[in-house]
Amino acid sequence: MEDTIFDKILAGAIPSDRVYEDDHVLAFRDVSPQAPVHILVIPKVKAASFTELKDRDEEEIGRFFKRAALVADELGLSDEGYRIVINHGKNGQQTVAYLHAHILGGRQMSWPPG
Ligand code: AMP
Repeated sequence: MEDTIFDKILAGAIPSDRVYEDDHVLAFRDVSPQAPVHILVIPKVKAASFTELKDRDEEEIGRFFKRAALVADELGLSDEGYRIVINHGKNGQQTVAYLHAHILGGRQMSWPPG
């Protein structure tokens, strides 16, 4: 699998504004924020996209989402609310082939998404 920009961020080869890191996940600020708070959460064991999770260990998947919830909580987003987005593939407009959850908060979201 070819290295993506998020592989390079994880390796420390290119800079990022890290907000949380442990043995399993890394969370950092999106370089082009779409909300006052816009964080990306990636698993340290790479998956290219969401659909690969169907072959992954359930504990690993659970850990990923639990950490995302903790990051949102630590950023103070839980009371007012926030949005979690995972784009998959062309129609989902995924642009980086490394699974990532967007945490978007700090403003009122609208629905349906574009
Ligand atoms: P997606 O369209 O779901 O694949 O989202 C990719 C996200 O990565 C976009 O929101 C980009 O703004 C973000 N992004 C791209 N390069 C970087 C970078 N070097 N540091 C932080 N975020 C990035």
